[in-house]
Amino acid sequence: MNQQELCQNYLMKTYADRSLWFTHGKGIYLYDCSQNAYLDAISGIGVNVLGHSHPEWCGVVSEQIQRLVHTSNLYLIPGQLQLARKLIEITYPGKVFFANSGTEIIEGALKLARKYSQNKYNAQRNEIISFENSFHGRTMGALSVTGRKKYREAFEPLVPGISFAKFNDIQSVADTVSDKTCAVIVEPVQGEGGIIPAQKAFLHQLKKLCDENDIILIFDEIQCGFGRPGTWYACQDYGVEPDVLLTAKGLGNGIPIGAIIAGKKVQNTFQPGDHAHTFGGNPLSTTAGLATIHIMEQYEILDHVKEVSALIRKHLDALAERYALIKEVRSKGLMIAVEIDPKISASNIVKKLYQEKILIGTCGDNSLRLLPPFIIKKNEVEYLISVLEKTLQNI
Ligand SMILES: *Cc1c(COP(=O)(O)O)cnc(C)c1O
Repeated sequence: MNQQELCQNYLMKTYADRSLWFTHGKGIYLYDCSQNAYLDAISGIGVNVLGHSHPEWCGVVSEQIQRLVHTSNLYLIPGQLQLARKLIEITYPGKVFFANSGTEIIEGALKLARKYSQNKYNAQRNEIISFENSFHGRTMGALSVTGRKKYREAFEPLVPGISFAKFNDIQSVADTVSDKTCAVIVEPVQGEGGIIPAQKAFLHQLKKLCDENDIILIFDEIQCGFGRPGTWYACQDYGVEPDVLLTAKGLGNGIPIGAIIAGKKVQNTFQPGDHAHTFGGNPLSTTAGLATIHIMEQYEILDHVKEVSALIRKHLDALAERYALIKEVRSKGLMIAVEIDPKISASNIVKKLYQEKILIGTCGDNSLRLLPPFIIKKNEVEYLISVLEKTLQNI
């Protein structure tokens, strides 16, 4: 059987038809079985921040695989302790909980906020405010706070007590807050919804509103954080400290891991038995996370992200001036959307770019999404932009 037949016969059809597949990767390139190199500007949806098979990262992670992969959380895991300390050092004082994915840490954060509120007030104070157009994941709790109907509809009824305010509209949040509100969850830069950065004033006002009402402010930085803004986290770029910061995607550079970084207010809320995962923070994933951070520090990758993202933005703004089919360019660091005129399908442009051996994605209603690996060089950016321009010219 060929790949397509195997796919038809044995895989649940949770994705539209796919034709590309890869045998290996090196740096920012993925290779197919005919040795064609594809420039990977989506990095496994914001995951492979150091590109593919980074030699130092592979060295540390391979060594760990051969020594110890998993023990469960019945025992202390030294890599977990070190990674927790490192995450606190690069963010703010607090404590860390480890899971394996984005959606899992959303679940953990919602439970954390409810327990804090129930302990301090009463069980009726359990409501959560999220935002229209947001994306937080696919499990029931995370889906319940996801503000896009197309993901939710088939699975209702979802978790009760959740309402949606308008993003970047503080009055809408103020109107939604009640004495039953225990948490607000927000992506500082909406990802799936179209790479829409929060306005700075909005996040500051949101923080103030939450503090005044003792509401737990949760930042979902699963996509927009971990170096992608050019700072470790977007909250640092905005100058707003949330009560709970969520990080996953890029953290393990491809090994599944997610972490809840709980600030002082909620750092001791969970007690033994409240929350756990079999795999969460195992020796392999925490070693991968630690190696990723060490390499980013060693090579001053955040500075590189700042430089290279400014260059991409400059080029895309110039393209937007020349091509009417570009409606808008939105970005925060290396998280970039190019909104396309609704008359032309963004997915078709993505397919045309496959033929040019460039990998990007889509987001929002009709936008191209670029989440390049942090190691992309300036000449590679120039090449990417020139192919994009050529493709736009031919439309
Ligand atoms: C990807 C993503 C999630 C879900 O993460 P998974 O690892 O796919 O479960 C949640 N929130 C945001 C902002 C994301 O981009």
